[in-house]
Amino acid sequence: MAVPKRKTSKKVKNQRRTHKKLQVPGMVACSNCGELTKSHHVCKSCGQYDGKQVVEA
Ligand SMILES: [Zn+2]
Repeated sequence: MAVPKRKTSKKVKNQRRTHKKLQVPGMVACSNCGELTKSHHVCKSCGQYDGKQVVEA
């Protein structure tokens, strides 16, 4: 079985998975209140969708 010749340095180790973000995909900032909401969904904090009041906050 192949064994790594050298120990992986901290730098190389920390450079892995830098493309992974903590942000959840499909989340956008609300145009009214700026809260993070799911795109194409009514904002949970202010109840607006596409600039219109849909649900009472
Ligand atoms: Zn909002």
